[in-house]
Amino acid sequence: MAPDTAVVLDRAGLDRLIEVLIDDGYRVIGPTVRDNAIVLAELASGRELPAGWGVDSAPGRYRLRRREDAAVFGHSAGPQSWKQFLHPPHRTLWTSDPDVHVQPADEPPTRDAFLGVRGCDLASIAILDRVLGAGAHPDSSFARKRQGLFVVAANCTEPGQVCFCVSMGTGPQVGPGYDIALTERIDEQGHRFLVEVGSAAGERVMALVTARSATEAEISDARAAVAEAANRMYRAMPEVDLPTLLRESRESPHWEDVANRCLTCGNCTMVCPTCYCTTTEDVTDLTGEHAERQQRWVSCFELDYSYVHGGSVRKSGESRYRQWISHKLGTWHDQFGSSGCVGCGRCIAWCPVGIDITAEMSRLAELAERGAADG
Ligand code: SF4
Ligand code: SF4
Repeated sequence: MAPDTAVVLDRAGLDRLIEVLIDDGYRVIGPTVRDNAIVLAELASGRELPAGWGVDSAPGRYRLRRREDAAVFGHSAGPQSWKQFLHPPHRTLWTSDPDVHVQPADEPPTRDAFLGVRGCDLASIAILDRVLGAGAHPDSSFARKRQGLFVVAANCTEPGQVCFCVSMGTGPQVGPGYDIALTERIDEQGHRFLVEVGSAAGERVMALVTARSATEAEISDARAAVAEAANRMYRAMPEVDLPTLLRESRESPHWEDVANRCLTCGNCTMVCPTCYCTTTEDVTDLTGEHAERQQRWVSCFELDYSYVHGGSVRKSGESRYRQWISHKLGTWHDQFGSSGCVGCGRCIAWCPVGIDITAEMSRLAELAERGAADG
């Protein structure tokens, strides 16, 4: 970040950025407070941002708390992720009527601007690009939404208690893929956002917003705040070869221990920004004349998920948890060239019994080490 390229917006400038994006035809989606949580929703103005709200989280726990300042990005991840806008939970694939026959469902063109995307979540969008947007048969709905996307990222200066992005290499500094990146700072000099531009589209939008040049001191202050956030992670994945550990732990007694706690509710897969599995269902109206094929998210924790010709392959909770974590942290590498986990911590906070993916992997690593020592 060089002083001649970084600029600063004040709080009114952030509101103006949102106005400019809306005037430019974008649906601006960002964090707001609803139902006692930070959710992601369409914003009509910057007044809807969660000013002064923070989050306390722990395994199986998520609570909003009042902050002592008016930070708008001073909260960690809520129950939702950006996945719901790029890969919606429900979608009609086609409809069929007697006179029209089969036709693909209409999908209005979208031009979304995501505001406040953290490093972990930007990495999760890159994973979805590889899973849904690449290959011989990309998901055309995802590709269309992705193509029109404008990303305003937010560097993280206050990690949540369940975050572990540093050990997954995804944060707190946002990686590539943004149009604009903000670092929010509040001190005696005021409330401001250091802005870095990452694309021509970002440059075009920033030309319409009044911003002043950043000073050297403001740039190093923002850089130091993000670097310091990396030292305040409460959790980390164990530093071992996770795919090998999972492959060699297939028969570990630890799976039974997890199964004794796991409710197989599937919450972890629903909140995960990278879990992408879907199923399709054909439905008709009562006359049988109008038919639709619908797609919806599914979870590998559902018994039906592994149903093959007369029965489910993974009947036990232990086999289903092992499948989820082995894919997420192990075979995802073989399939898509990276881990499927970005360290956002959502699955830890939103697991009703507080199962912690980092703690389970640490325990597996301990057991493997002990087994190796015992010969
Ligand atoms: S790990 Fe937790 S969230 Fe996931 S299925 Fe089991 S109980 Fe539900
Ligand atoms: S597995 Fe958990 S921590 Fe990892 S990306 Fe999914 S929800 Fe986030």
